[in-house]
Amino acid sequence: SKAAGRNVIRFFDPEMQALIADRVEMEEDLRNGLRNDEFFLCYQPQVDNQGRLLGAEALLRWRNPKRGMIPPSTFIPLAEDSGLIVSVGNWVMYAACKQLVLWAQQPLTSSLTLAVNVSAKQLRQMDFVDQIVEVLNVTGANPKRLKLELTESLMVNNIEDVIAKMTELKNIGVGFSIDDFGIGYSSLSYLKLLPLDQLKIDQSFVRDVLTDPNDAVIARTIIALGKSLNLQVIAEGVETLSQREFLDNYGCDAYQGYLFSKPVPADEFERDVVQTFEH
Ligand code: C2E
Ligand code: CA
Ligand code: CA
Ligand code: CA
Repeated sequence: SKAAGRNVIRFFDPEMQALIADRVEMEEDLRNGLRNDEFFLCYQPQVDNQGRLLGAEALLRWRNPKRGMIPPSTFIPLAEDSGLIVSVGNWVMYAACKQLVLWAQQPLTSSLTLAVNVSAKQLRQMDFVDQIVEVLNVTGANPKRLKLELTESLMVNNIEDVIAKMTELKNIGVGFSIDDFGIGYSSLSYLKLLPLDQLKIDQSFVRDVLTDPNDAVIARTIIALGKSLNLQVIAEGVETLSQREFLDNYGCDAYQGYLFSKPVPADEFERDVVQTFEH
């Protein structure tokens, strides 16, 4: 038929073919990259409202010999679509926990927490809890220093399963933060069912908080909500002192952003970032 003919033509559309080929190739590069040690973590400080260093968020970086640096906004979605995010996430968890163990051995870093991003697909794995427990056991990292950042999308379905997994990890000391809070589909009624420690205000609200009254209202509302639920509220993407002061006035508990430091490799974090804070 004509319709089938069109489909066939579309399938052999050279541009489309090239796009598909690119994707398949990058997926393959991603898989090899895991084996070839092309990934590393960068660390961005998290700071309390008194300016004290609380810890860091671990952010994944990929440097491929052929492609150069590839931003997470490119490879994380690809990893999620292909299912590779489970191995990638496991790699991240090992790397983060090994870093925590190294920090535990140094006085200036021994009390720092490390926040690790967990994608919804990772959390949905049946053995998610066992995997985390195994990484903690193998590395010897203190679960109390580990904080998992989850996005609101995980609240969409099978919330009982999510609560059960979170509770199990919470019981051994692992902390939880809801990342990018405010942009997702959160049903507020779920919030109090989850064993959370922290809400993270998305940077899209922080960016124009001084000039856009809507963003200011949203930031203030999230802070108030956090207070009423007894959760710490951290703002991400804080770039200026005036953004920080504005959020301070609303009672925000903690901050993360270029104002303090961009994400940097571990050696730079220890050498330059940690030193700039009071101890
Ligand atoms: P995210 O978790 O919301 O991380 C915050 C992003 O904002 C990071 O981008 C960080 O570098 C950037 N950022 C920090 N401070 C500022 C600031 O002051 N201004 C601006 N404009 N940006 C700032 P990055 O490192 O490119 O990561 C992008 C996203 O990739 C992350 O967003 C997260 O969703 C995802 N990602 C990164 N690492 C991992 C990982 O290990 N696992 C998973 N599942 N996702 C990850
Ligand atoms: Ca995050
Ligand atoms: Ca974010
Ligand atoms: Ca984001």
